[in-house]
Amino acid sequence: MKLKKIHFTFLDDFITYDCGECKGVCCYVNNNLVVDTYSAVKIENSYTPLSAFISKIGDTSVLNCGKKCWFLSDKGCIIKDLGISKPPTCSLYPLQILSTREYLIVSYISCPVYRLGSSKYSIKYEDSISIINQYINTGAPLRELSPNISNERIEEEVTYQENFKSSVLLKMFQENSGLDYNKKFNYYLGIRWNKKIMSVPIKRTLDYWDIYKKVCKELEKTFNFLDESNIIHIITDQFLNQIENHKTLRLIR
Ligand code: SF4
Ligand code: SF4
Repeated sequence: MKLKKIHFTFLDDFITYDCGECKGVCCYVNNNLVVDTYSAVKIENSYTPLSAFISKIGDTSVLNCGKKCWFLSDKGCIIKDLGISKPPTCSLYPLQILSTREYLIVSYISCPVYRLGSSKYSIKYEDSISIINQYINTGAPLRELSPNISNERIEEEVTYQENFKSSVLLKMFQENSGLDYNKKFNYYLGIRWNKKIMSVPIKRTLDYWDIYKKVCKELEKTFNFLDESNIIHIITDQFLNQIENHKTLRLIR
């Protein structure tokens, strides 16, 4: 099998998330956990009532947890204490993968307690690669980019994003720009893999960053009242709506 290149939509060593502080919000949203074969057999043999919740997608075993994971206790996750491996879905979180012909596009789901800056909990490319490969090796189906989008457009987007990341880093060094700017940037490149945006030639997307910043500015007051994990959904919707109206905004060349 040909190995795909990995493209990260966020900066290296830039996003910190402290699971100790959060106490497992993802354990309520990861309702279909990919589990390795050993763990699936162990669950079926030792925790037989859970067998009914294990299903197969191709060769991959998936445990359905409903609204709260079976292994979440008052003390946190107890899955390893029961001799079951941590599911690759849980190790992967808060990363998410989009698959294209040549690339795995890795973006970031906003955790409720995330903050920006380097720390022992920040996401580092180097550490992420083995977690991503472990997940891929389970054979779990991945979200795919539409096959109608050309390789050329994908290459253009990757190049655009790498340049954009360098320019953001430069701006941060030169201007000591505040957290606000960095936070806006933090969601942006992940959103650009949206089908609607990828269907447009790159030269027409160059000013989307301006539209995006405008949307963030308009929503700034709302940000103060919202849970961090909801913000990305609201920004994405508003951003895509604004793009629909881009001719009236006169921001696109
Ligand atoms: S939601 Fe994020 S910060 Fe919270 S436990 Fe899960 S991975 Fe950790
Ligand atoms: S297995 Fe553990 S980390 Fe994964 S969702 Fe369940 S409680 Fe959370």
